Amino acid sequence: MAAPWSRISLSSPWKKPPAAHQWADERELGPYLIRSEFPLRDVHELVQDLGDLQDDIEKTLGLRCQPQAIQIHLFNSKRSYNQYISVRIPEGVNRQALYVPGTDAGRVYAYRHSDLETDVRHETTHALLHTALPYVPIWIDEGFAEYFEVPAGRREKGNPHRGELQNAIRFERWKPDIAYLESKRELLDMKKREYRDSWGIVHFLIHGPVAAQESLATYFEEIQSGDVPMPLSKRLMQRIPNLDQAILDHLMK
Ligand SMILES: [Zn+2]
Repeated sequence: MAAPWSRISLSSPWKKPPAAHQWADERELGPYLIRSEFPLRDVHELVQDLGDLQDDIEKTLGLRCQPQAIQIHLFNSKRSYNQYISVRIPEGVNRQALYVPGTDAGRVYAYRHSDLETDVRHETTHALLHTALPYVPIWIDEGFAEYFEVPAGRREKGNPHRGELQNAIRFERWKPDIAYLESKRELLDMKKREYRDSWGIVHFLIHGPVAAQESLATYFEEIQSGDVPMPLSKRLMQRIPNLDQAILDHLMK
């Protein structure tokens, strides 16, 4: 898995491209317009995964995504990607992949390398999640993107973060700190460790005890109602006695 901290989302608006770009392949698939510098048959499994991703997110999180349009741009090389990005989204240069929100469409950019599929699932998760919720706190946004970036069959037990956290629990006395993650306001504050830790809490919210799943559902309802939601750290502490131990036990299972 590539360094997760290099896949970040930018909040700045997308700017009009300076010139038309030559794409080798282009396909519409549900809400997606996929444009690629290489034939899409080379990544047919990824294309299929994208078709399932919205359904996966909706079923797993109990949300309804309402994507108008999501444009996915796939580049043949890092060089080609950087050339394209440098004139359109200069702050995104040298990022491994990007999600850029926009009023007309969400846009995803990624280039061909061994983790392309992971990058695209990660960034497209951001794009879909932002159509289901009026805002998404940064740690939750990255935690879900890390969760959904692996193929569906590996999400519960096969994400590399699982072993990383188990090692941290065994050898570094790692403890969950949800309030710390909630204090993160900038993507640049999210380092590799924060991505991993956000994944761990998100995994507990999805696969942990019913009280954790209900806390997440209530949290989403509060966000959707326009109210300021009770911090998840607080709600979880109210609902789950000895929360830290419950999270540790869950992650070591
Ligand atoms: Zn991300």
